[in-house]
Amino acid sequence: MTRPRNYQTEAIIIKKIKLGEADRILTLYTPYLGKIRAVAKGVRRPRSKLAGHLELLTHSLVSLARGRNLDTITGSQTINSFLPLKSDLQLISYALYATELVDQFTAEHIENYPLFQLLLETLHQLCQAGNNELALRYFELHLLNQVGYRPQLQQCVSCRQPLEPTINSFCPGAGGMLCPSCCQSQPLTRPVSVNALKVLRLLQSSGYDIVVKLKMDPELSHQLEMVMRDYLRYLLEREVKSAAWLDTLRSKVNSI
Ligand SMILES: [Zn+2]
Repeated sequence: MTRPRNYQTEAIIIKKIKLGEADRILTLYTPYLGKIRAVAKGVRRPRSKLAGHLELLTHSLVSLARGRNLDTITGSQTINSFLPLKSDLQLISYALYATELVDQFTAEHIENYPLFQLLLETLHQLCQAGNNELALRYFELHLLNQVGYRPQLQQCVSCRQPLEPTINSFCPGAGGMLCPSCCQSQPLTRPVSVNALKVLRLLQSSGYDIVVKLKMDPELSHQLEMVMRDYLRYLLEREVKSAAWLDTLRSKVNSI
């Protein structure tokens, strides 16, 4: 059976690059087709009817025609443009960080419906007034879960003993926590306080509805960020571009 030439899918626009004079190649994250790349012809022309429905971080219903290499976008209808996100530079950077991680951790054409839902939920969450740092930590932990790198937070990854309520350490190379005695033989670890571990476990096991009620001081928030950053960095084996951007932006915001 041949596949139909035209098809339609929901998608979140997660990346765009210029192509030729007026076109773009867009990376779409979809519920049932995973990540796909497609050509949007003429979208850089001022009067393009498609352009507004294919902005970065837009949730759209996209029509496509199959091509020999890349498929071509033939139509698009915005479902949610996430306007509150787009009017705030810091929120944009958070959202782009999330989409960058999705891009980095996925291969094309591999369906991952829960990951699509997670990304969509996160964009909605970032539009609400709330603790965005916490929303990102939640996103990171659940993304890792969906792509097969769920960190072990319940027991020591070396001796398998349950963790005592004391300062334990996170070991990116081992994919989880180490107890104080196993930690001594591992050079690249980061100490994690009792409270930080509690929050990480809660983020990993709860939904956004619980997470949004959490209160955190900046020091704890920073600790969680560093643990996740170490692990993501290790997994990606290089700096995540927008994570570096996030740092730059934060230092700018703090210096105002
Ligand atoms: Zn141990």
